[in-house]
Amino acid sequence: MIKDVIEYNKKFTEKGRGVYYATSKYPNKNLAIVTCMDTRLTEMLPAALGIKNGDAKIIKDAGGMIVHPFGSVVRSLLIAIYELGVEHIMIIGHTDCGVQHMQVPEMIEKMKAEGIDEDVFHQMRYYGVDFNQWMGGFDCVETSVKESVELLRHHPLIPEKVSIYGFIIDTETGELRQVAGDEIE
Ligand SMILES: [Zn+2]
Repeated sequence: MIKDVIEYNKKFTEKGRGVYYATSKYPNKNLAIVTCMDTRLTEMLPAALGIKNGDAKIIKDAGGMIVHPFGSVVRSLLIAIYELGVEHIMIIGHTDCGVQHMQVPEMIEKMKAEGIDEDVFHQMRYYGVDFNQWMGGFDCVETSVKESVELLRHHPLIPEKVSIYGFIIDTETGELRQVAGDEIE
């Protein structure tokens, strides 16, 4: 599989196709998007939003969740705001998310089946990692998006001038529905 990727890449660069994507590191729309790593959104989300290369910083994780106020998603957002000129943030959850109703005990069983030692989970607890909270998904995508918007809205390092919006995108139709955040002017 990876071999195919490398071969494709050779052809891509030989044809000089990189030139078609030339842009700067500063997002043209002063926009950052936090969304899910779901493969159905890879092309669909930018296409449905009219976003081209260079337009927005897109930060992805499982579920488009902000798990920790000082975790990697917020870190990326702060860099986007203070170093790259981002003024608008969209949190975009989606329908039929793989993280919805995910069962942590089942995942732990899968890990054990792959040879992960039981002790690891005890050690994590000892070091203060709440495995359920860290690895857990959500029951309702709308609630998850609302919580992320609230977390950012009250984050001590995010300035007032940054507008924050919460949406859900339909993975079949691409329709965007606002569920939280600032009013759209
Ligand atoms: Zn998802």
